[in-house]
This record gives sequence, C-alpha cells and structure tokens, in this order.
Amino acid sequence: MNLELSEQQAMMQEAALRFFDRQEVVHAARTSRGAVDDSLWSQAAEMGFITMRAPEDRGGLNMGLMEAALICEAAGRGAAPLPIADGIAACALLGQLEGEAAAALIEQATSTPISLDAQDGCIHLSWQSDAIHATTPTGETLIIASGNAARQSFEAALTERTLLRSAWLVGAGTRAIEMAAAYATDRKQFDQPIGAFQGVAFPLADSITDLEGGRLLLWRTIWGVAQRQSEAGALAALTSWWTATTARAAVRRALRTFGGYGLSDEYDIHLYFLAIDRAALAEGDPEDRLVDAGDRLWAGATTALPDAGDPGVDMGFTPAEEAFAAEVRAFLETAFTPELRAAAAISTDGHLPELHRKLAAAGLAYPDWPREWGGQDRSPMEVTALGRVFEEFGISRIPIGCTNMGARMTMKFGSPELKAEVLPRLADGSALACLGFTEPASGSDMYAARTRAVRDGDDWVITGQKMFTTGAHISDYILMLARTDPDAPKHKGITIFFFPMNLPGIAVQPVDTLQDERTNITFYDDVRVPDRYRLGEINGGLKVMTAAMEIEHGGEGYHIYHHSLMRAAMEWAGSSDTTGKRPIDNSAVRARLARVRTHMEIADLMCRRVTWAIESGRLTRAIGPMAKMFTTEIYMEDAADLVALAALATLNRKTAALAKIEEAYRQSIGQTIYGGTSEVHRSIIAQHHLGLPRS
Ligand SMILES: Cc1cc2nc3c(=O)[nH]c(=O)nc-3n(C[C@H](O)[C@H](O)[C@H](O)COP(=O)(O)OP(=O)(O)OC[C@H]3O[C@@H](n4cnc5c(N)ncnc54)[C@H](O)[C@@H]3O)c2cc1C
Repeated sequence: MNLELSEQQAMMQEAALRFFDRQEVVHAARTSRGAVDDSLWSQAAEMGFITMRAPEDRGGLNMGLMEAALICEAAGRGAAPLPIADGIAACALLGQLEGEAAAALIEQATSTPISLDAQDGCIHLSWQSDAIHATTPTGETLIIASGNAARQSFEAALTERTLLRSAWLVGAGTRAIEMAAAYATDRKQFDQPIGAFQGVAFPLADSITDLEGGRLLLWRTIWGVAQRQSEAGALAALTSWWTATTARAAVRRALRTFGGYGLSDEYDIHLYFLAIDRAALAEGDPEDRLVDAGDRLWAGATTALPDAGDPGVDMGFTPAEEAFAAEVRAFLETAFTPELRAAAAISTDGHLPELHRKLAAAGLAYPDWPREWGGQDRSPMEVTALGRVFEEFGISRIPIGCTNMGARMTMKFGSPELKAEVLPRLADGSALACLGFTEPASGSDMYAARTRAVRDGDDWVITGQKMFTTGAHISDYILMLARTDPDAPKHKGITIFFFPMNLPGIAVQPVDTLQDERTNITFYDDVRVPDRYRLGEINGGLKVMTAAMEIEHGGEGYHIYHHSLMRAAMEWAGSSDTTGKRPIDNSAVRARLARVRTHMEIADLMCRRVTWAIESGRLTRAIGPMAKMFTTEIYMEDAADLVALAALATLNRKTAALAKIEEAYRQSIGQTIYGGTSEVHRSIIAQHHLGLPRS
C-alpha cells in the first residue's frame, strides 16, 4: 500500500483546494439555488479542471481518474454549484471519440457547462437510439458517435461520473463536519464549549471516520479500475452507495450541531445540506447501488469501466508481502496438522503450544522482531499479510499479540539483564506473556489502578487484583501496571513491570465469557518482584504505557475477522436448502451481502492505512483509533445483520458457516471493548482529528 500522492497530484490538489476555498465559491452556492453558476464554470475551465481528462491535442491535460477525483473532492469542499463530475467525465468521453464534432464540443465545454444529465443551460450528452447525442442549451441535437464501442464508452463515462460524484461527496461531507467542529469549539452552553459534550462530539467523530473510509474506498476502486480488476465495477457501485449515505448522514449531524442556527439562511451549513442531497440522490435511491453491486458481484451483471490512467497510489500488497503470505500459507499447510486443527479454538484455551513452537522456530511467530531477538525484521505490512493467513486457518493470534506487547516494551524499556533473561524464551516460543492493566475498579480509566507496588530493598512487593487478564493461565510473564506513588496524580504515580507468573503469591481464576473466550481474574498477594523486572523509570509508567497504547490502539489486526465473517456468509449464501434454493439467488440477499462487503473493504483499508502510516512515519494520533473503532463497530453491526439474515438457521448452527456467523456476533461485542472501547476511541478522534475540546 502507498497512499502518498505524486508531486504532480499534490500540486493539482493544492491548486484546486485554493480555487474552491474562496468566498466567491460559497457565494455562488448561495445565489445559484441549485443551478449551475456559469461564471464559476468558466473559471474552473480556465484552471484546466473541466477538460483535464481530455487528450492534450484536444486542449486537455490527459490526466488520470485519480487526479480528477482530487479536483472533485476539492470542489465538494466548496459546495461548488457546478456539475463538475459530469463535465470531467463528459470531456473524457469526448476525448476518446473520433471526429470534429467531439473536438468542437470539448472546446465549447470551456464556456458552456456540459453534463451527462439534462440540466438547464448545459450541453447534454445522452445515449439514445444506439448513438451518443449532444443537445445544446438551445435545443439543437447532433449525433457524435454510434455503435457498440460508443455505447461502451458512454457507459464507462457514467461509471466515471459516479466515482467523481463520490469524490465530491467526500469533500462536501468532510467540510461540513469541519465546519460543525469549528462551531462546536466556539459555541458555549452550560459554561462549556458544546464540543465537550460527547453527544455532540461522537456523531461528528463517527462521520469523519466514515468519510475517511469513503475516500479510501474510492481510491481503492480507482486503483482497481486502473488494473481492470474483475470486481471494479461492483466496487464503483459500493463506493457510490457508501459515499452518498455517509455524506448525507454527515451533513445532517453537522447541521444539527449548529442547533437552530443551522437552519438559518445566515449560516453556510444549510448550503451543504442541500448540495449534498442533490449530489447523493442524483442517481436515485443510493440503496439501489447495493442491488447493482450485488448483481455485479454474484449474478453476472457487468458495467463498463473508464480508462483510469496511472492512479499513482497503490492500494494492494506488494509482491514481497504476497510472497511472504504464500510462504506462511505453505508452512501452515504442513505444520498445522489435522490433529492440531481439531484442537484449535479461538479462545486462549485453544492455544496450541506445539504449533506455537513450530511457528517460532520458523521465525513466523514474531517475524517483525529484530534479528537480534530472534525475528526476521519483517515489515509491519508483512505481518498484516501473515495475520490474514492465520485467520484463514482459524489460528488465534491473541497470545502472540499479548506476548508481543510485553516483549516490545521490554526491548524498549527493559535493562540488558532483563532482555537477556526473557526475550530468548519468548522468541523461541517456550514462553508467553499476558497483560495486567484492567482492574475491578479501573477499566477505561486504567491509570486509576489500585494494585500497589511497594519498594522493599531490591524487591517490589505487589498486592492487588487484575481483571480480564486474558491468557494468564497459559502465560509465563505479565506486563503489569502498578501504583508506586499513591500521593501523586494518578498518571504520575504508576510504574510498569514485566515479571514471571510463577512467583509465590499469584493466583489465577477463570472468567468465562459470552464469546467462548476464557479470560481471568488474577490476584497478587505480597508478590516479591525483583527490581530487574521493572520497565522504565519509577513512576514513569505513563511513558511505557503510551508506547504500549500505540500498539494497542493501532487497530491494525482487527479487519481480518471481517474477512472470515464474509467467507462464512458466502458459504451460507451459496448453499442450497432442502428445496434446492440458494440465498445468493435472491437479489435482496445479494444487496445485504454487498453492504457487508463494502464494510469489509473499508475496514481492511483503514487498518492497512495504519500499518502504512507506521511504516512511512505518518502516524497521527487519530488514525489508529479510527481504524479500531470503525472496524470493530462495523464488524459487530454486520455480524448482527448476518445472524438476522440467516435466521432461524443461525440459531441452530447446523453448518460450520452458520456456527461461524453466530460465534462472530458474540465475539464482535468484546472487540468494541478491549483495546480501548469505541467511546474512548471516539474521544481521541474528536479531540485529535477534529480539534474538539476534551470531553
Ligand atoms: C474478552 C476481554 C478480554 C480482555 N483482555 C484484557 C487483557 O488481557 N488485559 C487487560 O488489562 N484488560 C483486558 N480486558 C479489559 C478491557 O480492556 C476493558 O474491559 C476495557 O478497557 C473497558 O473497561 P471496563 O470493562 O471496566 O468498562 P468501563 O471502563 O467501566 O466502561 C463501561 C462503559 O462506559 C464507557 N465509558 C467509560 N469511560 C468513558 C468515557 N470517558 N467516555 C465515554 N464512555 C465511557 C465505556 O466505553 C463502556 O461502554 C479485556 C476485556 C474483555 C471483554
């Protein structure tokens, strides 16, 4: 994956943002009342935006679809009253057609708006009687091209317009949320900025996350179109549905943030409300796009794709990452024997020490660790590729995840003596670690921990309880947060330890859960822990935990569950019932599955974006929480939807696929809780991405 724009793309984007971020544009939106603003159109044409996709010898810039999407997103930010998606797609179409008439129309489009729909004052390109017709604003019609190739080109132009409209909607929705966030920071009620109320902040955090997801999905679709991927046509419909639906929800939420003032003509937000509805509903009910997508994915329907050019960005795995995944798959084909498969379970109770040691010996348990500590120095994206393969085989990575965090903190904050003692054991698979942060009285507010560590000579004496210590019963070490200064403010009086679980005074009690996952409550009764097991400074636990939370809140691995949920859903949908009918043959079922597929794509992209950001040094405080919150919430929503879609059968769980769907629903709830609850993540997004005050 590479989300970095090329220099040329970044320059175009900047020029477009400057152009559309002018008072004149908003003024035009205010006065046009939905009509096209001719003067703004001419200015946009002068900038080269309208004809950008036409060839240079016809006055265009020969730009790709990605560049056009960047321009349209900028236009959406300004709620520009222009059919810019139509204009760009129409000129791209005319650029491909032979003949003087097409060339002349491109020239004409620099002063007269052009559209693929009939609109007052616009040249209208349409497909009728087996030919592309151009109708001028004064009603003269001429035929530009005819025949099968022309029909394909016209259809491709419609697909292009759909995608460019999506870009416009992402821009407009994003700007609406930003305007609402700015208002919520200034406006005070009950003596505080309204943005400090979670009831105001959280919907904005949800919407900005949805829109970021929409942009990623759009880019992924453009990349797929450029590669002529077989599912690209379906992805175009999914993108259209998602961006239309989420932009409409975003602007409703944004408008409500302004209270009564949002309804007043004085404020610009109502212009966005109207403009977004016009764009989002321009192709009819957005829900119909899901039906189209379902038909394209699973019922053989097709659509023509535009020539996208080189999108610059790369939304897939690199050949090296694919090769590593293949290597892991080949390894598991033999190492994961039928006996081990039979014993595997999602719970830590189903942890397979034999398989774990084999993985460790092959360097596949912690492949991204430095070679010094038994790893292969693999990249974070290679680990993501590996995670997907583990999920395909139904192998839980929870013990590996917990151990990884303990080990990473030891590498970063442990003494050389501690590293030498514990890291080789963790690396060779003979030891595991668990995490002891949560306590009965402190969950989300983990820095309120009461478990005490009191210095006594060279040792610390630890007393207290930890709740939900997952994997404690199979672990050799615990990464523990303990209070070392009860008088200091809560963040400043904690210290982190990484110590053996076999020290006298530790007791582990099982806690069984709804999701078939055994976790534990652990008790510490005057446990003497030598000081060498301390990580970082005394009372400096915040620094260690901040580093640990970067891993915990990263959200990278969560999307893999959506892939297996989708696989199970497809298995169910493709199976015949006693009358020989298959759910997938029903278009309403296909539409429901298409919705899950959209969510899966976005979850995948959001999580991989975190990994890309880590690798490329672009990690911000909010993109990990966005990925974690979105992915786990949407997984829960989809699992609930699929359980209902396949009911009653899901309650009987007679097939492996049905059991998987039902199990996923129960497990999905926990995912929105551990690793930071969705509410905690929404707070981070609101504060760090939208600049809202702390709630
Ligand atoms: C299956 C499972 C495994 C786990 N494994 C581990 C583990 O290995 N190690 C470990 O240390 N912990 C583990 N946890 C604990 C997990 O991290 C906590 O459950 C989580 O942090 C929430 O704490 P809590 O359950 O006490 O809920 P609370 O913090 O009491 O929250 C209850 C509700 O209030 C909301 N809430 C809390 N504070 C705010 C706020 N400021 N604003 C808005 N809403 C808020 C929460 O979002 C939640 O909906 C596990 C939990 C589960 C369910």
